[in-house]
Amino acid sequence: MNTKNKKVLELLMKEYPDAECELNHKTPFQLLVATILSAQTTDKKVNEVTKDLFKKYPTVDEFLLLTKEELEQRIKQIGLYRNKTKNILLMCRQLKEKFNGEVPNTMEELMSLAGVGRKTANVVLSNAFGVPSIAVDTHVFRVSNRIGLANAKNVLDTEKQLQKAIDKELWSLAHHLLIFHGRRCCYARNPNCSECIIKEHCNYYKQITK
Ligand code: SF4
Repeated sequence: MNTKNKKVLELLMKEYPDAECELNHKTPFQLLVATILSAQTTDKKVNEVTKDLFKKYPTVDEFLLLTKEELEQRIKQIGLYRNKTKNILLMCRQLKEKFNGEVPNTMEELMSLAGVGRKTANVVLSNAFGVPSIAVDTHVFRVSNRIGLANAKNVLDTEKQLQKAIDKELWSLAHHLLIFHGRRCCYARNPNCSECIIKEHCNYYKQITK
C-alpha cells in the first residue's frame, strides 16, 4: 500500500474509530434482508423497519410465513418496497431449496439469489462471514474516486482498483471508513472540504484549490 493510501486510512481510522456496518442485524440472514432493503434508502430507515420485522420474523422460516401483502405492508415506508418484497420472498424460497435455509458464504452463491447483486454479496461476505471484501456503494464510489484511491468510471472497476490500492486485511474496514466519511463529510453535493481531515491527500481538493 503506498504512503498516501496508508495515510488516508490512518486519518480516517482516527476520525471514525467506531466505523462499522450501520444496518442492525443479529444473523447473516437478517443482514442479507437488511442489505436488500437498503438499496436507495438510508440505513436509518431500514433499521426502523427491521426493528419490529426481525423481532416477529427472525429467521428464514418465519419469513416464509409472510404473504406478499403482509411483507409489503411492513416495509412500505421504504423505497421500491414492492420489488424488494418480491425479491426477499423469492430469495427466502431459494435459500430453503438450494442452501438448506442457510445463507451461503461465497460470492457466486450469494449472487445466485434474487435481489442480490455484487454490492449486497460483498456486504454479507464481509460483515457476516469475515471475508475481506470492498462493497462499492454510492459513498465508496464517490469518496474513493474523489480522494484518488481509485480512478474509475464504474463500481466494478472501483472495486478492483481499491483491492489493489489497499492491503487485503483492511478491505472491509476501508469500506466502512469510506462510507462513514461520505455520510459525515464528503457529501455528494457540497462536500465539506474545508473541515475534511484528509484534504491534504485528496485529488478533488487539490483540483478545486489550485
Ligand atoms: S477534501 Fe473534500 S472531496 Fe476530498 S475527501 Fe475531503 S470532503 Fe471529500
